[in-house]
This record gives sequence, structure tokens and C-alpha cells, in this order.
Amino acid sequence: MIPGASDIGDAAPGARPVSAATRQRLERLRVELDVLEMVPFSDPDAAYAPAAALERRARALGDETAERRAQLIQADVLCRKGKHTASGQVIREINEWATEHGDRHLMARSHRLLSVFFDFIGDVPSAWEHAVPAVDLLDDTMPERMRADHIFGLGQVLVRTGAWDAARERYRAALELADGLDDVPLRVKILNNLAWLEDDAGDVHQSMEIAKRMQAFAERHNVALDAACLDTIANAQLKLGLYAEAEATLRPILDAGDLDTRPIEGLAEALNTAAGAQRLQGHMEDAGATLDRCIELCASRGMVAIRVEALEERARLYADQGLFERAYQQYIEFHAEDAALRAAQREANARTLQAVFETTEARREGERFRQLSLRDALTGLRNRRHVDTELPVLLARSREDGTPLSIGLVDLDKFKDVNDRFSHAVGDTVLVRVSGILAAATAESGWAARMGGEEFLLVFPAVSIDESLRRCEDVRTAIESVRWDGVMTGERVTASIGFTMLQSGRTSQAALLGQADRNLYAAKDQGRNRVVSDSA
Ligand code: GH3
Ligand code: MG
Ligand code: MG
Repeated sequence: MIPGASDIGDAAPGARPVSAATRQRLERLRVELDVLEMVPFSDPDAAYAPAAALERRARALGDETAERRAQLIQADVLCRKGKHTASGQVIREINEWATEHGDRHLMARSHRLLSVFFDFIGDVPSAWEHAVPAVDLLDDTMPERMRADHIFGLGQVLVRTGAWDAARERYRAALELADGLDDVPLRVKILNNLAWLEDDAGDVHQSMEIAKRMQAFAERHNVALDAACLDTIANAQLKLGLYAEAEATLRPILDAGDLDTRPIEGLAEALNTAAGAQRLQGHMEDAGATLDRCIELCASRGMVAIRVEALEERARLYADQGLFERAYQQYIEFHAEDAALRAAQREANARTLQAVFETTEARREGERFRQLSLRDALTGLRNRRHVDTELPVLLARSREDGTPLSIGLVDLDKFKDVNDRFSHAVGDTVLVRVSGILAAATAESGWAARMGGEEFLLVFPAVSIDESLRRCEDVRTAIESVRWDGVMTGERVTASIGFTMLQSGRTSQAALLGQADRNLYAAKDQGRNRVVSDSA
């Protein structure tokens, strides 16, 4: 379909009749917006000034919707460049405006960008909550390129929750759309993400296969792969023991003299991977020099997370050289920085959230802010307070209209061991990742809450008992299937779930939670990693 072929007849509601010339200008504006909306994704710098110009044109033409679309593009750029607070505020406001005015296109776009925003600040459950409507709101008046982008975005969030099959499906669908559009950068980006997905899912061969496909495709279309894509290929080569090949893949980065001025995406990661490839070939001096460059680059470009990875790689380098004393010191430094980084990140994210949502509190009597205080700070899930206010309401509704209501009380097995054997920080990472799975399981209906510690509640209102029980079983399987590479490689986390439902004689919150707790206890007693229900 033609980009921008949405109905423009109702462009300026309530306005005087529009002349043919103005109609034409409005239409042109929309077509340009359709195109520009997709630019920040691959080239943020190229989108900002044109978006500002379109905003001025829209204002001059009195098209409020177009004006906001142009503002949203600018916010998209800012978000991708790390200005999360400023961009988050604009995106949130536009999302509210779009929802109020029922503007479907703008709603879909702002949900998509809210999802990106929450993903950037590490709140996976909220990223998921926005990625879903960003896809659901798509209709065939919207450009294909936008459909591909939103489906791809949903895939990215699914990857964060470890739902490989579901993510793969979205990536494939997005790729098919991108193929049809002949959009080369988008196709490369999706293939790159697909290769990482396979790596995350533990299939290095498949990851290599897709990385090769990406490489061949880029060559055929005469586009140079960026650092992130080269790093994907090298990472797979490294894991397959092809050390010299991995180094050769990253040669363009190693030989580049202009790293300080290149787009940062993937650069430091690529140097870190190259250092690993050099170390594994026994080229210890080269590896040391590459790591120094990596750490310098991290310092000059403010890449804290990669710096921590580089410290770990340097510890490995010392160990492989037999310098155990120095390796040990380096590991200690790595662990200290790692913990500090996680704490600082969590704090920064909390500050961003507050800054983005506190103006709402003033303007809309704290509706969203109230909602935020009903969320758990670590995982972004609902918290105990939310359960206490919301569950009685659901119970009353179900009693009244006779719809089913069931719950699953989820408790991680032997979780104390994770903290004891690894660290509290690793424990927190596990809790966040598991929360993503729980949020995904209740995304369509219901919600998930963190009751405290490593105990969670799944609530399934108006879902059949069989279906709810099946979802609990899926959650259990999803948790045990997570691969914790890079967090606690080779380990497995499992959960026990006590499942129960509203029925006569068991209609209060206390009675329901009490029964779930007894079923949970039974699950633990029967050997953990299982769902126990008291239904027939
Ligand atoms: P079981 O299979 O019987 O449930 O064993 P368990 O070890 O999971 O149970 P227990 O209740 O003894 O331990 C729960 C642990 O969860 C204790 C505490 O260290 C950990 N925990 C609670 N809250 C947090 C948190 O916010 N972060 C981290 N990292 N750990 C937490
Ligand atoms: Mg436990
Ligand atoms: Mg517990």
C-alpha cells in the first residue's frame, strides 16, 4: 500500500473547509512523516533536524496530529541518544494525548517508543506492556515499514524474557515484511538480532548460519556491516573455536584510526571480542593492547557496562598467562565494579522514572504515579499493595458475574543458594528475568505481582481454569528453560507454583491465598519444580 494513504479527510477537526492546495500540502506532510518516522531507528542524527522542520510546517498548517508526530520523532532520536528523561516525558505526554483523542497511528507509535524507553532503562515488564499494544493497534492504513518495525520491537522484548520461540516468530514475520519492502538496513538489523537470539538460546551453529546469511546479504547489496554486526559474526566464530577467523572479522575495527568519532554502537563490544580472540590464539600482548584500547574507549565514550566486561576479560588474560595474583586482583575489581554498576543503574532508572512520571502526578491527580507506587522497584511488576487493592475487586466481580478467577503463587526453588553461591546482584538479575516471563504470561489478561522476596503472584481473571493452569505450567517450563549464560553459566533456576481458583466456600482473598500457599507447600514437598492445583 502507499505510505501515508490514511484518511486525511478529517485532518483538522472542526476547522474551516480546506482548500485543495492545503489538502495537498497536508498529504505531502503525512507522506514525509511516514518516511521520517522510520529514520531514527537506523540513523538518529539524520532525523532530528528534518523532524523539527516538519513540526514547524505542521503547526503552520494547523495540523495538530502531524505536529505531534513530528515531536515524537524528535523524542525518538533523543531516547536513542541516551536522553531518557527528556524523551520519556514527551513520549508519555503524546501517548496520553493520542489515547484521549483516539488517534490510532499516534497511539501505536507512542506505545512502540514507550516500549523502547522502558527497555533502555531496564524495565522489561513495562517494555512488554507497551510493545503489545504497539502491535495490536496496527491496521492496514499504516505503512508496511512501520508494521515491520513494531513486530520487530515486540520480538526484541520477547528475547529479553527468554521466550525464544515467540521472539523468533516475530523476527521472521518482520523479516518477511522487510524483504517485501526491499529495506536493506532493516533486513540486516533483523538478521543481526536473529543471530543473537540463536546465540542467547544456546544454538551457536544456528547463530553462525544466520550471521553468514547476514554477511552475504550485506555484500550482495554493497553495504558495510557496522561494528555490532561484525561482533555478532566474530562472537559465533569465537564460540566455534575459529579464533583467527574471529580476529580477521574484526580487523576493520582493530585497524580503524577513528574509533572516537564513529557511532558507538557495538564498538567497545567488538574490541572486547577481538581481545578474546587474540588471547585464545596465544597472542597475549596483542590481546592486552586491544583491551587497553577497549577500556580507553569506554572511558572516553562513557560505556560503563562494557568496561566491566573488559575488566573480566583482562582477568582471564592474566589467568591464561599464569599471572594468578593479578588475575585474582582483577576479578575482585571486576566484581566490585559490576555490583556498583548494577546499583547505580537501578538508581538512575528509578530517578528517570520519577522524573518522567511525576509531572503526571500534578496534572492528572497522580493516576499514573499512584500506579507506579503500586509497582515493585526492582522488577517493575505490581507489588503487594496492588494485590491488596485489586484482588478484592476482581473477587467481587467474579462472584457477581460468575466468571472464573484463578491464581498461581510462584516461589523460586532454593533461591537462597543463588545468592549464596553467586551474589545478591546475580540473584537480582534472576528475579528481573523471571519477572519478564511472568509479565509475558499475563500480558493478554490478568497481571503478575511480586509479593516479596522471590515469591510472585499470577492472577488470571475471566480466563478458564484449564487455560490458567496451562499458563502456569508454561511459566514453570519457561523458567527452567532459561539459559543463564553470562549470569551463572550452566545453572538452572526452577520454580514451584501453588495454583487455585475461586469456588464456593472460598471467596475471600485470605482464603484464596491460603489455599494457594498450601498447594505451593505441597509442590515444594513433592520435590519442587512443579505446579500443584487442588482442582479435580
Ligand atoms: P525454597 O525452595 O524452599 O523456596 O528455598 P529458598 O532458598 O528459595 O527459600 P528461602 O525462603 O529460605 O530463601 C529465599 C531467599 O530469597 C532468601 C533471600 O536471600 C532471597 N531474597 C529475597 N529477596 C531478595 C531480593 O530482593 N534479591 C535477592 N537477590 N535475593 C532475595
Ligand atoms: Mg524459594
Ligand atoms: Mg519464599
